[in-house]
Amino acid sequence: MGSGDIPKIKMRLKLSPIKIKNVTDFCVSIAYQITIIITLITMDKNTILVTGGAGFIGSNLCERLVKYDLKVICLDNFNDFYNPSIKRKNIRWLLEQPNFELIEGDILYTNLLEMLFETRSINKVIHLAARAGVRPSIKQPLLYEEVNIRGTINLLEAAKASGVEQFIFGSSSSVYGNNKKVPFSEDDAVDNPISPYAATKRSGELLCYTYHKIYDINCIALRFFTVYGPRQRPEMAIHKFTRLINSGEPIEIYGDGSSSRDYTYISDIIDGIESCLDKKLGFEIINLGDSNPIKLIELVRLIEDALGKKADIKWMQHQQGDADTTYADITKAKNILNYSPRIKIEEGISEFVKWHIKQTDVNLT
Ligand code: NAD
Repeated sequence: MGSGDIPKIKMRLKLSPIKIKNVTDFCVSIAYQITIIITLITMDKNTILVTGGAGFIGSNLCERLVKYDLKVICLDNFNDFYNPSIKRKNIRWLLEQPNFELIEGDILYTNLLEMLFETRSINKVIHLAARAGVRPSIKQPLLYEEVNIRGTINLLEAAKASGVEQFIFGSSSSVYGNNKKVPFSEDDAVDNPISPYAATKRSGELLCYTYHKIYDINCIALRFFTVYGPRQRPEMAIHKFTRLINSGEPIEIYGDGSSSRDYTYISDIIDGIESCLDKKLGFEIINLGDSNPIKLIELVRLIEDALGKKADIKWMQHQQGDADTTYADITKAKNILNYSPRIKIEEGISEFVKWHIKQTDVNLT
């Protein structure tokens, strides 16, 4: 809680409705004031800003958080990286929840961020807003630099000014580039990003470190390993393959199908983020993955099985920016966060396919 919050508590205490006539009233009044103080302190301690809260990971996270006694503020600009109506649908249920607030706006607008931190007693930030995706970052590096680097600085600046106690940054396994040593550990050198996206995510981590060092903000950078599940971004492989195979269209596989990814189910990622909320660790980088890499061709077979349809595969040249493999060492997450991914790939793909078919049935994807 920032020191600027104290006058607000005093102001609210003046609204106490109890009139003191005798000792009993006095005791009741004191108890009442204490209850209010506890409530206000607890309330302030539990106001969380989720940037990118209407996106795939963000909306699933907000749904988890509003079920607790927390105030959740979602800041999202509903950009057109993919159809914004999908993002609106993602938060439809959330908008009905009394402890959820949507702020439609951009992390590049510093005035908006200042206003937000001044008026909302935010003390935890989960920063997920970003331009995601490796391949589009090669085409639009400046846009990725602006949103992912400048946007992160903007948030850290606003967070520092209001004294937030926890800043969680959504980083990515892409920072490991084509690391040959597997599994990827947080101690590995990450000086060779192979896409602008990866370079911006590494920059975000470094900025978190810098702000922790200068302003003593608790920062945790979580390196997510290919997240999948309901609401996954439509351009991501699992979603795209499922959509195309289901509708009988060909899928393109870049390389020979032997590249592999450590696919992580959304609920496991949300568990990992949630367990960071009350950890005051100074600065840490933590992998969140499944620690079970799956070859691309095996992934296609799993989707085929879940759909009961065969894929028509078009083999394409390997794409620049794509890593050969990703494989998370999750020892640190286990030790610090008690993280333990529960959803096996077969189950996760089956759940995703069920969700996709339901969406297609109601014609919403
Ligand atoms: P997403 O695109 O679904 O969500 C990002 C959200 O941020 C979107 O709703 C978008 O509208 C919002 N946003 C983008 N720019 C913004 C801006 N300037 N101001 C305000 N809002 C803005 O992506 P996602 O898959 O949910 O990813 C969330 C985060 O996790 C991203 O930071 C991404 O880089 C990171 N990440 C994701 C994965 C994955 O597999 N999905 C893996 C590694 C890291």
